[in-house]
Amino acid sequence: MALHERLYYQDAYLKEFNANIVRLAEDGNGRPYVVLSNTAFYPTGGGQPHDMGTIHGIPVVDVEEVDGEIQHYLAKSMEPVDQVAGIIDWNRRFDHMQQHAGQHILTASFVELFGFPTVSFHLGKELVSIDLDIEEVSEEQLRAAERLANEILLENRPIETKWVTEEELEQYALRKQLAVTDEIRLVIIPDFDYNGCGGTHPKSTGEVGLISIIGTEKQKRKTRVHFVCGGRVLEQLHKKNVELREASKLLSAPENGVSEAIEKLLSSHHVLEKSLEEANETLLAVEAKELAACKAEIGVIKAAFTNRTIQELQKLARLIVQEDEAAIVFLVAKNDTKLQFVAARGAAVSASMKEVSADILPLLNGKGGGNDAFVQGGGERTVRADELLEAMETAVMK
Ligand SMILES: [Zn+2]
Repeated sequence: MALHERLYYQDAYLKEFNANIVRLAEDGNGRPYVVLSNTAFYPTGGGQPHDMGTIHGIPVVDVEEVDGEIQHYLAKSMEPVDQVAGIIDWNRRFDHMQQHAGQHILTASFVELFGFPTVSFHLGKELVSIDLDIEEVSEEQLRAAERLANEILLENRPIETKWVTEEELEQYALRKQLAVTDEIRLVIIPDFDYNGCGGTHPKSTGEVGLISIIGTEKQKRKTRVHFVCGGRVLEQLHKKNVELREASKLLSAPENGVSEAIEKLLSSHHVLEKSLEEANETLLAVEAKELAACKAEIGVIKAAFTNRTIQELQKLARLIVQEDEAAIVFLVAKNDTKLQFVAARGAAVSASMKEVSADILPLLNGKGGGNDAFVQGGGERTVRADELLEAMETAVMK
């Protein structure tokens, strides 16, 4: 498509236009698209996402440039007509213009102040990011670049675009070598930034509104800087306000004391966890004594539980055989899907728990591990807990 037919280059503020249909087609996946005689729809490119809107009343879901042809993908196929009206989703486009121009300015600020070049740019749904070709960026450097960028916005400098030839290009101090050799489009913020760029931009820096750096992230040997511009600054502020207000309410702490309150909460949580653990140990010891008192004549102590962990069963079994050297302990726990068991013997007993385990595991299609003195295992709930205990007792008396 020729340059003059790309209406977004004539006027980045054009929201509605008329065009003739050049062709209607479908891509390989059966998605219908239309090619127009001219268009104000910006196709995905140069880090800027495509426009949305409607053509002939049909929603445009994607716009891609393929071999110089701009394909407008439609939510449903279109009847051939003489002329169509295109309407750009202006909120989306203007947001892209703000983020895109803001990126130029922030990138230029990092170069101007610290010589950190930007190597890539991503315009996401919520946040925008640039990757700086430097491993470490300090908080002070971030604040300084943000400050300079916002000064450029406040000064409301013009943002000019100019088509130049390769020879003319030499007069400009460009930030980045350009890959394109003909039809070079320069985006110029006088005395600040000269950039080869095919995106859409507002006509002055003031329209970017505000630039706010949200955070950074290490990216191999680079630093990713997340930021937002224009309307997105307010969105982020509202979002964070809601979150902070909610946290502050939950913690009954003032908004500027939320992190302190969370620290206190975490440390008291830690203390509680510790004391709960100790209380559990005490309870287990009591439980072990009680179970030890119920030894059958043949020396077996057995019990079945619901929803207890194998770790708890192990602890309990150890405590019982410490209590009573002559005891054999069989403990079984069932939960939603599994049956687990522990078998332990006191120091004065010679029967092998490993053999008991080997005998009963086939009943559960289960697996186990341990030694002659102590085993644990588990499997499917193919028998009842009390049946498993019976089987263990039978096995040990063999
Ligand atoms: Zn640009």
